Amino acid sequence: MDKKTGESAAVSAVPLVPNVVGGSAQPGKAKRTLPLIQPATGETIGMVPMSTSDELSEMVQVAEAAQKNWGLTPLKDRVQVLFRLKTLLEDNTPALAEVINKENGKTLDEARASISRAIECVEYATSLPQLAAGPVLEVSRGVECKMLRFPLGVVAGITPFNFPLMVPLWMIPLAIGCGNAFILKPSEFTPLSALELAKLLKKAGLPDGLFSVIQGDKEVVEAICDHPKIKAVAFVGSTRVAKAVYTRATAAGKRVRALGGAKNHLIVVPDADPEMTATNIVASVTGCAGQRCMAASVLLAVGEVGHILDRVKNIMQNFVPGKDIGPVISKAAYDRITGYLERAGKSGAKLVLDGRTAKSQVAAKGLFLGPSIVDNVTPQHECAREEIFGPVLTVLHCKTLDEALTIENSSPYGNAACIYTGSGKVAQYFIEHSHAGMVGVNIGVPVPREPFAFGGWHDSRFGDGDITGASAIDFWSGVKKVTSKWSAEYKANWMS
Ligand code: NAD
Repeated sequence: MDKKTGESAAVSAVPLVPNVVGGSAQPGKAKRTLPLIQPATGETIGMVPMSTSDELSEMVQVAEAAQKNWGLTPLKDRVQVLFRLKTLLEDNTPALAEVINKENGKTLDEARASISRAIECVEYATSLPQLAAGPVLEVSRGVECKMLRFPLGVVAGITPFNFPLMVPLWMIPLAIGCGNAFILKPSEFTPLSALELAKLLKKAGLPDGLFSVIQGDKEVVEAICDHPKIKAVAFVGSTRVAKAVYTRATAAGKRVRALGGAKNHLIVVPDADPEMTATNIVASVTGCAGQRCMAASVLLAVGEVGHILDRVKNIMQNFVPGKDIGPVISKAAYDRITGYLERAGKSGAKLVLDGRTAKSQVAAKGLFLGPSIVDNVTPQHECAREEIFGPVLTVLHCKTLDEALTIENSSPYGNAACIYTGSGKVAQYFIEHSHAGMVGVNIGVPVPREPFAFGGWHDSRFGDGDITGASAIDFWSGVKKVTSKWSAEYKANWMS
């Protein structure tokens, strides 16, 4: 299908994207399929099966059988697979970046950066023997309490299109390291990186059945939420779906950690370094074509910062789609983003830069847009409130830092926020008063690196804890508290 025209293309010669069951790629049995369209060219490069609940149940059985031995394998042995996976990811970075570039549209540099971040998560998990060791204490004379971790069994992850390798690797290393079998449901827009990951995990020595991939959409996601043998579900995607998955899977008795969408605010005050601030803002808005949950979306310009805004525009207007910025993922995404621009123009906002008119270097059928700047909007404007998820910067003007913080605080989301300032006092005030799980000072994409865990607040996350880091180790393991007394000579006392 042509992503811009929606016209059908001949798809008979196009390969069916497989599932992965029991360590090998297998064609799904689903009757329903969706075309897999390369965002940069508009070409149909595969057909993605929309797997059924029956296929999921078969996969769970295989995973359950494999998990029994894996759960009994000592942690120190389990993490050896992760050490090998790290090396394999490093050695295969160029090939993996090509796959990500093909299915998602990210530039090769962006794809490589996402793999580096994924490797960091694997590295963190290789330290599980040190990180997961529990405390032991003599609580009464001769009586000892200790904490032990056990695997949950079969667990699942449901992931978005925008980081097809990195987001699954936020989950898989800790989940598998903790002794579980993991079923991944990748985005139907980006099903290929998961297959590469399955090959690398097998090569790293992970026994068959412990990592499965099920392709599909809402139907199989709901089956995952309902399946009684899946004990925990991690989700990353839009707020609407995060909330639905959280509600459905918790109602089925599972533990769930569901990360949602975002609307991230950047506050710029007059003492900010003009060059560094402008370069940083542009990178945050345009990186991955704005399709990042950490991307800058609303710029809150406090006082006289026009000289910085001019620099932002000057850099952005020279962006060449296809060279400096990749395509967006789908025709629906293209229409959503351009719809915001269209309505902003009609609503009286000022389209300082209109990405629809940027001259592209590449095929007309690709889904390319240049960066846009929408200025002079009110805090209630849809461009100031809703997640656009494209390379669009919305600018609001404020008289004071408190006014900017009131706008930031009123967002239903709470993923990221940052400030550009030369003053430690202003930065500290912002850190204390902003409402987001991840905040930055002079950093446009304040992703906490491991061991500082990734996770937002409010409508950007449902369920406690973060998706990486120490709380994720707890999420993927069952903790038992053991109280023992072996010394008969000590007198029985409290609760003996
Ligand atoms: P999405 O919510 O459309 O899809 C995510 C997953 O849910 C996919 O696997 C998809 O197949 C499935 N899904 C889609 N609709 C469903 C439905 N109705 N019922 C059940 N399952 C459904 O998200 P996306 O478009 O793939 O990704 C972009 C979104 O993800 C943005 O909102 C972005 O902010 C968010 N995101 C958040 C984070 C974070 O860490 N907070 C990270 C990356 C992306």
